[in-house]
Amino acid sequence: MKFNTLVIHGGIDGDKHTGAVTVPIYQTSTYKQPAPGEHTGYEYSRTGNPTRVALEQLVADLEKGHAGFAFGSGMAAISSVLMMFDSGDHFIFSDDLYGGTRRVVDKVFSKLGFNYSFVDTSSTEAIEKAINENTKAIYIETPTNPLMKLTDIKAVASVAKINDLLTIVDNTFMTPYLQRPIELGADIVLHSATKYLGGHSDLVAGVVVVNSEELAQRLHFIQNSVGAILGPQDSWLLIKGIKTLALRMERHCENARKVVEFLQKQSWVRNIYYPGLLMGDNANLKEQMSDFGGMISFDVESQEIMDKIFNNLKTFTLAESLGGVESLISVPALMTHASVPKEVRAQLGITDTLIRASVGVEDIEDILKDLTI
Ligand SMILES: *Cc1c(COP(=O)(O)O)cnc(C)c1O
Repeated sequence: MKFNTLVIHGGIDGDKHTGAVTVPIYQTSTYKQPAPGEHTGYEYSRTGNPTRVALEQLVADLEKGHAGFAFGSGMAAISSVLMMFDSGDHFIFSDDLYGGTRRVVDKVFSKLGFNYSFVDTSSTEAIEKAINENTKAIYIETPTNPLMKLTDIKAVASVAKINDLLTIVDNTFMTPYLQRPIELGADIVLHSATKYLGGHSDLVAGVVVVNSEELAQRLHFIQNSVGAILGPQDSWLLIKGIKTLALRMERHCENARKVVEFLQKQSWVRNIYYPGLLMGDNANLKEQMSDFGGMISFDVESQEIMDKIFNNLKTFTLAESLGGVESLISVPALMTHASVPKEVRAQLGITDTLIRASVGVEDIEDILKDLTI
C-alpha cells in the first residue's frame, strides 16, 4: 500500500467482530479466559489492549518497522527506550536535543549509572571520537529544535553498524510522511505523537517503532514491566489523527514554504532557520526528507519588531508545542529554552529575538497577514 492509503487502512483496519469501519475503543482492563492458562491473545490491558495494538501496528506500518509501541507521552516513550539499556552503558546524543530529553538523561538516567556524551551529530567524525568500549547507541534528532540542525541519518547508521551500536532517531518534527529513518538504517524510531502524528493539539502520547523481533521483545518487556502505556481512548484519538497525516503534512509544508518566501523579503528578518535553506549540497540530506515540514525559526532585528508581531497575531496562537492544525508561535529564549543558561543560548544561536513558528494548515493569506507589520 502507498503511504497515503496506509495512514487510513494500515495496522488493523476496522473491527472484524462487527464490521465497524473504525477500530472500537476497547475500554477494558481485563479479558475473559476460556480456561485457566488459556487466553484469546489478550489477558490484561497493560500487557495488550486491542485499540492500542491497532495503533501500534499502524505506526509500525508507517515507519516500515517490525513492531510499534504506544506510550502515555513522548517522554514515556523515550524513557522506556532508555530503560532497554543497562547501568554503565554509554550513549551518544545530539547536542541540540529536545529539552525534556536532555533533562531526563541529565537528571534521571544519570542517577541510574548511565553515561553519555552530547555531540554535534552533524559531524560523523565527532561521533566516532566519542565512541568508547561501553557505547551502546547513538540517539539523534533531525532537524533539531529550534535551529533546525540536520544530521545525515544514513551516515550515522553506518558508523553505528560498524561499531555494533544501535541508531535511535526522534522523528517528531518530520513524521514518517517526510522521513523514514528505518529505511535509512536506523534501528529505533520514536515520536512525541502529541505533535504532528496526533495533529490536533488534543492529546499527549508517544510511540516507538523498532526494526527487529529482538528489539520488539526487549521493548515489550519494558512496556509491560514499567507500564507507561497509552490508554484506549487516546489510542483511538491518535488513530483518528493519523488518518489525515498525509493531507495535513502536505499543507503544513506548502504553507511553511510560503512563509519562508515571505520572510526572505522582509528587511527586519535577520536569519531564517528552515531545513530547505540549511541542507547545502549534502546528497544524503537531500534524499532523507521528501519535503521540509512545517517548522520555521527566524531571528528578527529588534525587540520592537518582536512586539509588533506579537501585537498583530490573529491566526497564530502564542503557545508552546507544535504540529497541530493551528499555527503556533513561541519565543524559545523566554519559553521552551528559558532554563538553558543565556551564554549557552547565545552560543547555540538562540537569541532573545528568535521566534519559532509551527505553521498550521489555515489559509495562507491569514497566516501571512499576522506577519505583515
Ligand atoms: C515534545 C517533544 C518530545 C516530548 O514529548 P511529550 O509528548 O511532550 O512527552 C520529545 N521530542 C521532541 C522532538 C518533542 O518535540
